[in-house]
Amino acid sequence: MGVTLLDPLAVAEMAAASRTVDPMWLVGVLPVVAVYGILRGRAFCGWVCPVNLLGEGVDRLRRLLKIPDAGFSLPRRAKVAVAVSVVVLSGALAIPAFELFSPIGAVSKGLAVGAFAGVATLLAVLACDLLGPRRLWCRSVCPLGGCYEVLGKVGQLNVAIDHSACIHCGRCEQACLCDPSILAPALEGRSPIIAAGDCMACGACIDACPVGALRFRLGRWGLGADAEGTRELETVPMTVENRT
Ligand code: SF4
Ligand code: SF4
Ligand code: SF4
Repeated sequence: MGVTLLDPLAVAEMAAASRTVDPMWLVGVLPVVAVYGILRGRAFCGWVCPVNLLGEGVDRLRRLLKIPDAGFSLPRRAKVAVAVSVVVLSGALAIPAFELFSPIGAVSKGLAVGAFAGVATLLAVLACDLLGPRRLWCRSVCPLGGCYEVLGKVGQLNVAIDHSACIHCGRCEQACLCDPSILAPALEGRSPIIAAGDCMACGACIDACPVGALRFRLGRWGLGADAEGTRELETVPMTVENRT
């Protein structure tokens, strides 16, 4: 008998909708929680989710066309509240609510069950990535991203910084497609790693650093890492012009 791997949000939705917990759901979700919990929750976003891949392509197109950022966004932690809302809504509607409009796997789901609302969401997400606040869905709205952000707070795969090598050129912030503000504690010398649960461990900042001050490091306990920092997005604008 095969095991279907399930993401934690889907299991929470199904449990809320049905008011039961099927043991097979636990069998399906535990390996996922274990892998992303040990590595880094949003590694799913950086390395697995097709929406991120499409978003990166749209981002390149946006830079090519020199379309400026909308200049505003939502707090990135809003997606955690969206995740909680989706679970509550699933309980109220007695149906897994995010699955009705999720853009992740939208095409395959549409072809399989004829539910094309996710395709509309996907098109809206990509249109927003091109013309609206950059990366709004993945940075601030997606409930699955919010779920993995929480899991990411205990992830052991981190980007570490060599403070003595850093020349404060800002290229790592410009390269980060998640949110430049998550690098602030490390760049300001308050943390030896990028500890925010939102980090996707994509390595774009490592590739962008001209002096090799960033590298992957396993483990975070006892490092005194500052997870969130205080610098907000407004002081690190994500404009098309300042990106490499
Ligand atoms: S935030 Fe959501 S849509 Fe974006 S990459 Fe992560 S899981 Fe995929
Ligand atoms: S901080 Fe670096 S590894 Fe983390 S999401 Fe940003 S670019 Fe990727
Ligand atoms: S790209 Fe490297 S040198 Fe430049 S600010 Fe980031 S860590 Fe420092």
